[in-house]
Order: sequence, then structure tokens, then C-alpha cells
Amino acid sequence: MTSILSDSIYDERPAFSRNHQGELSTWQYVDYLGILEKKKMVMKRLRDRNPEKYKEIARKSRLKKRKALFNLYGDRCAICGFLDKRALTLDHIQKNGKDERQKYGEQGVYKKALQKYRPDLYRILCMNCQFIYR
Ligand SMILES: [Zn+2]
Repeated sequence: MTSILSDSIYDERPAFSRNHQGELSTWQYVDYLGILEKKKMVMKRLRDRNPEKYKEIARKSRLKKRKALFNLYGDRCAICGFLDKRALTLDHIQKNGKDERQKYGEQGVYKKALQKYRPDLYRILCMNCQFIYR
């Protein structure tokens, strides 16, 4: 970046976070100011102070996601029809579950599966069928 911008405050900001006009997007600017970092620290402090409460919130969030998954992909094993939700899991039909979990994390995979109904990628299987057919 040359000319007018070279003397401006933009130069104190990391180059990767500029768009083609040398400006930061709102979120990048917020992150640049360290607000997101601060928010993370505040959340961590709250979690440390009251771990039970936040464990419960996380548990409820996981349950909610699972419920949404069953609504979308069916509430029984796609192969044997097993009904007990405690033993039902999300199966990657294309056998790329390990890669996806590494990339997005367990909850991230659920989130991705929920964003769009993709019966070609995901299905619900019970643990038995999961182990037998993998
Ligand atoms: Zn099954």
C-alpha cells in the first residue's frame, strides 16, 4: 500500500485484515481492537467462577442440537430402525467423519449438518450399525 494511506493509522494494523481499499471490515476492526479477545476472557472468567452453570448451558445447547438433528434426519437408525436416542449418532455416509471432526470439532459438525439438509452426506445410525458398517 502506497500514497495517501501509507501515513495513515491503517499502517499500524495488520496487513492481512485490510480489504482492497485498505479498510477493515467491522468484525475485523472489532477484533483488531481486541474486543473479541476481551469477550473471550470475560466468558472464561464467568465459566471459572460458576462452572456448574455453564456446564448446564453447554449440555442444554448440545441436547438442543441433537433434537434438531433428529428432527431433520429422522429419529431412528437408518439401517435397523433402532429408536433409543441415547445410542443414536450422526453418521458420515462418505466416511469422512474423522476429517470433519478434526476440522470443525464435534459440535461444529452438528452445526454444519444442521445448516442444510444433506441426506447424501449425513444419516442417523445407532452405535451398533455405526460399528458394523464403518
Ligand atoms: Zn442400527
